[in-house]
Amino acid sequence: MPPQRRWPLTTPQNPRVHAYTSDHHRLPLPSGHRFPVSKYSLLRERVAAELPQVQLIPAPPASEGELALAHEPRWISAVLQGTTTDAEQREIGFPWSPAMAERSRRSVGATIAAARQALDDGVAANLAGGTHHAYAHKGAGFCVFNDVAVAARLMQAEWHRRHAGPLQVLVLDLDVHQGNGTASIFARDPSVFTVSLHGARNFPFRKEASDLDVELPDGCRDEPYLEALDATLVEVECRLAAQPPGLAFYLAGADPHEGDRLGRLKLSAEGLAERDRRVLEWLRLRRIPVALSMAGGYGHDIAITVALQATTIALAWQSWQAWGGDFRASDRPGAAAMEQSAP
Ligand SMILES: [Zn+2]
Repeated sequence: MPPQRRWPLTTPQNPRVHAYTSDHHRLPLPSGHRFPVSKYSLLRERVAAELPQVQLIPAPPASEGELALAHEPRWISAVLQGTTTDAEQREIGFPWSPAMAERSRRSVGATIAAARQALDDGVAANLAGGTHHAYAHKGAGFCVFNDVAVAARLMQAEWHRRHAGPLQVLVLDLDVHQGNGTASIFARDPSVFTVSLHGARNFPFRKEASDLDVELPDGCRDEPYLEALDATLVEVECRLAAQPPGLAFYLAGADPHEGDRLGRLKLSAEGLAERDRRVLEWLRLRRIPVALSMAGGYGHDIAITVALQATTIALAWQSWQAWGGDFRASDRPGAAAMEQSAP
């Protein structure tokens, strides 16, 4: 288990990073179900107890109009009205219930709120989300709606109302499974650059083409993983040189960890923390605001998964502090030019 760490207390002069929750809306599952749904409330309780510098906020539900930015109307109404077929529920892996529909909307709402907050002050998080296997027309692999896809499209629309020019978005998906739903939704959309660093032999077995896919072999350990990450970030910088991102979504899955049931990689707790540090530092140095989602994590011992995710949140808080708390959209390269050309 990662060592317990103590972080400085918050004072009125030292306000708090925002993290949004949706676990109050409990996902009812049959007993013995393999999805570790308890991890969300355990993470919220752990963050509340150990990280007072994180402000926990229950998320509002995403509206049908917001969901329609990334999902087909038929899929939205099937989930919200309970008309999904047995086959569709099997592909998701959860039985439908009103609570399942409500929780799915709230999980998207949490990523929307985190993205909006990140555009204000640099860094914010969803203590769930990262439901990257959901396509426009269906759910899959424990994912009902695609939180990042909806939030990316909504932030672009909100940006248009306030600024001239487009909002380039970067999706950095470091969950161990490929972000196939996200890649599919943005396949023909150059304004959202999708990156997925994942296990080559893991689910989904039919992968989609992201803008940048990096495949890792089974058993990959810290050093080659972090080398692949560094090379990926260099490549992203090259590919987006002409249109620097104004917002990033970081899917900080805990499932590359060596203790994961489904991950097939062998990262240590320190390796995962170093991954988060490098990503958050890379984004901060480029003044790219970031909304984190927790994505996957299926430890043999779920307490270890929760500890890993709590460390990610602590590192997000550290990064947020380093942003300086005086973030303005015009601080960013690219954004300043856009604002100058606004009418
Ligand atoms: Zn995963």
